Amino acid sequence: MLVSAAEMLKKAKAGKYAVGQFNINNLEWTKAILLTAQELNSPVILGVSEGAGKYMAGYKTVVGMVNGMLEELNITVPVALHLDHGSYDGCMKCIEAGFSSVMFDGSHYPIEENIAKTTELINITREKGMSLEAEVGSIGGEEDGVVGKGECADPNECKSIADLGVTMLAAGIGNIHGKYPANWEGLSFETLDAIQQLTGEMPLVLHGGTGIPEDMIKKAISLGVAKINVNTECQLAFAAATRGYVEAGKDLEGKGFDPRKLLAPGFDAIKATVKEKMELFGSVGKAC
Ligand SMILES: [Zn+2]
Repeated sequence: MLVSAAEMLKKAKAGKYAVGQFNINNLEWTKAILLTAQELNSPVILGVSEGAGKYMAGYKTVVGMVNGMLEELNITVPVALHLDHGSYDGCMKCIEAGFSSVMFDGSHYPIEENIAKTTELINITREKGMSLEAEVGSIGGEEDGVVGKGECADPNECKSIADLGVTMLAAGIGNIHGKYPANWEGLSFETLDAIQQLTGEMPLVLHGGTGIPEDMIKKAISLGVAKINVNTECQLAFAAATRGYVEAGKDLEGKGFDPRKLLAPGFDAIKATVKEKMELFGSVGKAC
């Protein structure tokens, strides 16, 4: 059964480790992530962007697929199904479809409007026993042409959103989505520290986990990050493994064209990436 992310993140923050959010795109992704979490006895959060939700034929399809796998693969570790960077309407749709967690990305609204919309969603998700993630200070991406530092959130704005009663808070601390540019200046631990000082026990979320050096990840966890989002890294691993299979001509040998064979190296590559991240984040063995 899907669970809210509240309990697993509360434990993670107290235990100084982080739970990974791994974004899913299809059946292979979902199965690879769930099986790895079960093998490593780790809690896990499955992230679904609005675009990926559409791609998978809609949120109800996603909920049906994930719930089916939990039962038929005997997944017993805590699993949250979470909308990533949701609009207000997207959050409402996922709440109705049976997700257990949503992120409302109101970072592009003026802070007053972000607060008003977040408050409404807090009331709805609380009633349903769901978790809610809010974002303060937008997190750039290379598609926006953002290079260098990435935006840093205002710690006081973080406190005002945290005080509303959200479950977890994403704050820009120089992190960006996608691959990091060569001239990236790194995470701002000063900002992270200031945010944690003001928000106390609130689990903090680090977006754009692909390509952040391991020592920075560990330091971020020590300063209150309890959820780390990984998306691009699984995509790169899947693509490289699939390319390797085709370039080696394996799809032309025997029944190598069978999708269950063609997609197997990519599936294994996702599993390996998820394992590596769970070990780095410290969530292995933390499922009870
Ligand atoms: Zn993000």
